[in-house]
Amino acid sequence: MTTEPRFLDGNAAAGDLESLFGADMTMASGRCQGCGLRTRLAEAHAYLGGPGTVLRCPGCDDVLLRMVRSPDHLWFDASGLDYLRVPAAAV
Ligand SMILES: [Zn+2]
Repeated sequence: MTTEPRFLDGNAAAGDLESLFGADMTMASGRCQGCGLRTRLAEAHAYLGGPGTVLRCPGCDDVLLRMVRSPDHLWFDASGLDYLRVPAAAV
């Protein structure tokens, strides 16, 4: 019996990220506060099944960022990242 992974790669969140930043964020990278891993957002583990989008670290599985849409607001929490680095060509 095989177990399907419960997550997709970070490219699955590209549309939500692009709507917020106005740029292709799949080449953006950041450093995980939990384990220090530097990773591209495209390589993060994306969980899309909840009320919002969650990207988790591929190294330690800590939450890197969360986005939730309500009728009136978009909530964005990137507190799991030490920083977010976006290539200049993307913005
Ligand atoms: Zn980590």
